Amino acid sequence: MAYHLHEGDLPAGLFEGTAAVAIDSETMGLRLGRDRLCLVQISAGDGDAHMVRLSQDAYDAPNLKALLTNPKVLKIFHFGRFDIAMFLHHLGVVTTPVYCTKIASKLARTYTDCHGLKDVVRELVGVEVSKAQQSSDWGAAVLTPDQLAYAASDVLFLHQVRDKLDLMLAREGRTALAQACFDFLPSRAALDLAGWEETDIFAHT
Ligand code: MN
Repeated sequence: MAYHLHEGDLPAGLFEGTAAVAIDSETMGLRLGRDRLCLVQISAGDGDAHMVRLSQDAYDAPNLKALLTNPKVLKIFHFGRFDIAMFLHHLGVVTTPVYCTKIASKLARTYTDCHGLKDVVRELVGVEVSKAQQSSDWGAAVLTPDQLAYAASDVLFLHQVRDKLDLMLAREGRTALAQACFDFLPSRAALDLAGWEETDIFAHT
């Protein structure tokens, strides 16, 4: 496993011809309108992670934006709703097409309430990922090796998780339902940004 840190943007053409990339991001917090986007981690599922550091108010990252909007590259997230909203807000792009391993897990693994990345990776891949650096300062001038290793670990196993969940979804007859949820996800993220974050617009009340 290796990780590569890029300042400001991805190198051009890095994921050309890749069918699916795993993506996660680190931010200054969980509040969409308040907290800035600091780091975007991407893996092709080959054990390597590429991380793009975005400095404050410098979100001109054309290669990253081209990847997020490339219709030929599936973007795999775990709880993509948040990352996709962050990318829409800060980068001004609608990320598509997408897959969310948390949604897939909720639809396939109905025998448990444990759908966090750590639980899903442990059960489906057999690897322990650490969440110790989750709440660290991602806006720091220099990121520590522990931070970078943690950030990388959030994208290294999503391809394997997706393969396992796809089998379970097919077995349970929920592949099409999951796909419909993934297709709706960019709109769900846009609703969050537009003020419906706490509201279930499908609810009766
Ligand atoms: Mn993360």
